Amino acid sequence: RRLGWAVVGLGKFALNQILPSFGESRSSKLVALVSGNRQKAEQVAPRYGVETHNLYDYQSFDRIADNPEVDVVYVILPNALHAEYTVRAFKAGKHVFCEKPMAVTVEECETMIRAGREAGRKLMVAYRAQFEPHNVEAIRRVREGEIGALHLVTSDHGRILDPKDPADQWRMVKSLAGGGSLYDIGIYSLQAARYLTGEEPVEVFGQIVNKKDDPRFREVEDRMAFQVRFPSGAIANLSSSYSTSSVKRIQAFGEKGSLILDAATEYESNKLTLRTEKGRQEVKMKEQSQFAAEMDHFSQSVIDNREPKTPGEEGLRDIRIMQAIYRSAQEGKPIALDATGSLR
Ligand code: NAD
Repeated sequence: RRLGWAVVGLGKFALNQILPSFGESRSSKLVALVSGNRQKAEQVAPRYGVETHNLYDYQSFDRIADNPEVDVVYVILPNALHAEYTVRAFKAGKHVFCEKPMAVTVEECETMIRAGREAGRKLMVAYRAQFEPHNVEAIRRVREGEIGALHLVTSDHGRILDPKDPADQWRMVKSLAGGGSLYDIGIYSLQAARYLTGEEPVEVFGQIVNKKDDPRFREVEDRMAFQVRFPSGAIANLSSSYSTSSVKRIQAFGEKGSLILDAATEYESNKLTLRTEKGRQEVKMKEQSQFAAEMDHFSQSVIDNREPKTPGEEGLRDIRIMQAIYRSAQEGKPIALDATGSLR
């Protein structure tokens, strides 16, 4: 059985990655599009077999409530709009799959979770790396003890923010992006530390570096270096940057060896290397769309009435932790967190 999906927002990521990925999915079918640009929607729709009566704009979006073909709404808008469209989708009786970061504030995340609960519908945050085959394999090997006790995770995510790219323009505006490189890509570094250790942070420490007078970073941070400490004593040394050439790397160092994902979070062709006493070995994984995998996981969770792997609570936790990292950077000192990721 395939559930019907409506994609909200026809930006760079939706057009280049998500719409084509429906072709590889087994439980999810693209049936509707929501866009502010009618012409664009009409151009895109026939390529994916979406019928004209299933095109909406941001005003008519709420009428999706009357469309039984749509089971799931996938929100791919600037971060500050995630909460509004998630709540509206729940009011329309739909399940919601929402891009990362889940929202801008902790309060927004809580409102989204509550709206889903009240509507009796499911919410999942699109953490594709948790469905990417090399990352999944790295997690499995850490859990099985292949590198011994995990003591250190390092992860760096960086790229050049391009003010000429429309997809990067809202990323320079705090009211739309919520934060800078940390919210956008540092979240992958943070996720890696959490899913590799399988633990929740007890303390964070962040440092922001912005080049003076760079107009890109008037409102949001460029570079964030941050450390996360876990209950077992494992520590993560993490970073995000909007001013370095592309890096998407995750490394797990244990007592008996290490696992290196480089690249770790590309859309395809990631690479996993295992290093032990015996030497270095590339772990070959079958290429498989992480996008189709995460969407199908959610469709299947809805069909089977099961909690998805990365529900709203997972997105909320990251927002809490990232807020603490900002606060730490502001105050210039480490911040302790309780078991829910809230400030202690
Ligand atoms: P984008 O700018 O290309 O797309 C955003 C879309 O929202 C555009 O079509 C834009 O027209 C529309 N929009 C509607 N209202 C808007 C408003 N008030 N201001 C600006 N745009 C408005 O950006 P993107 O890179 O596609 O990112 C969209 C979302 O997807 C973000 O939340 C981002 O974090 C997420 N994303 C996730 C991944 C991933 O790998 N999971 C990758 C890229 C982006």
